[in-house]
Amino acid sequence: MSNWQQLVQAVEPLQDLELDADLVRDLEQPGQQPGHQSGHQVPERVAHPVHFYTPTFKSYQTSEIKSCGKNAWPAVSVTGSECKLQCDHCKAAILEPMIPARTPEALWRVVNELIDDGAQGLLLTGGSNHRNEVEYAPYYETIRRIKDSHPEFRIAAHAALMDENAAFAMADAGVDVAMMDVIGAQETITNVYHLRRSVDDFEATLENLVRTSMRVVPHIVIGLHYGRMLGEWRALEIIQRHLPDAVVLVVVMPFYAPEKKPFVTPDSSDVGRFFQSARQALPDTSLLLGCARPPGESRMQIDTYAVMAGLDGIAHPADGAVELAARLGRKVRVTPACCSIVVGDEVMAVQDASDGLELDIDTILREEARRRAGVRGIGIPVVSASGPRTGIPA
Ligand code: SF4
Repeated sequence: MSNWQQLVQAVEPLQDLELDADLVRDLEQPGQQPGHQSGHQVPERVAHPVHFYTPTFKSYQTSEIKSCGKNAWPAVSVTGSECKLQCDHCKAAILEPMIPARTPEALWRVVNELIDDGAQGLLLTGGSNHRNEVEYAPYYETIRRIKDSHPEFRIAAHAALMDENAAFAMADAGVDVAMMDVIGAQETITNVYHLRRSVDDFEATLENLVRTSMRVVPHIVIGLHYGRMLGEWRALEIIQRHLPDAVVLVVVMPFYAPEKKPFVTPDSSDVGRFFQSARQALPDTSLLLGCARPPGESRMQIDTYAVMAGLDGIAHPADGAVELAARLGRKVRVTPACCSIVVGDEVMAVQDASDGLELDIDTILREEARRRAGVRGIGIPVVSASGPRTGIPA
């Protein structure tokens, strides 16, 4: 058993987790990151701090997390719940819970209400037309007015596909951060998105966006092709050519899956191998694992590989991931954050890696033990009519 597998065994929630031994061994190898020397005790990539955005570590809660009920980064859709594309994994369901602002006047009103309510920023999006473009042009004057009146208020917009003029118009309007999904397989564009555009169009959009003054944070949705890996490595190559400010990796969590074309849960080892490739391809770019990934054992495996692969940030880590990072010798920073704040930090591209609280391993172990005791009871045998049981499951 490799050293790292032994370390995993020491982390109580991960003790029985099945891991890909070859992958763990590969991730443990020193000197895999281009540009770094080999021969260190631990791979250079895990010597980087890892930033966890987590609602746990209760004694470190800030006023921000206490106000989780208020959405610090609400999402607003300029088309309400309408989208012409009706992609197979979504069918526009992602738009449904968002605040609609179907006219520039509505956007002005909504934003002012949100600011009065304490919002720090806004995720601006909308359904696509048939060309996977979100028609923002009528809103730019209002966005400029919002930014001129409230310069501290951040606006992150989902760009979808854009030509150069549209990208510069978005930047001129004052949008701070542009996000986009980079898709690297024509089959996925055609079949999942029902779209007559090419992989080159996605690359051209990224190229256009990075030329502007906006911070650019592309996403790669791992397993977008019905749960299988297909265009992820090409997407990574595209991102490598147009280095953005940060990259967010998420694992597909279909809002909707057609009966005839169901989505399988992506294989965790494949996801872990992709983390390894992404870290090697982008050694100096912030790599964040976003909120979306499958639950249960998959999430635990995926988060274990993310910690081992040296990702810079992990949103809402699975039980045990923080402790594992500390045991692997990674510097651990924790920002107690509910989901909307994670989304805000995500789009601001982990702007300041020194944000958050650095915790040492003793503190982490103490806090984790306290939390587990709170969640599961303290392991005192419970005697019931059918005999003794140990502890109380979560
Ligand atoms: S993923 Fe985007 S483009 Fe596709 S259906 Fe959902 S909202 Fe529309």
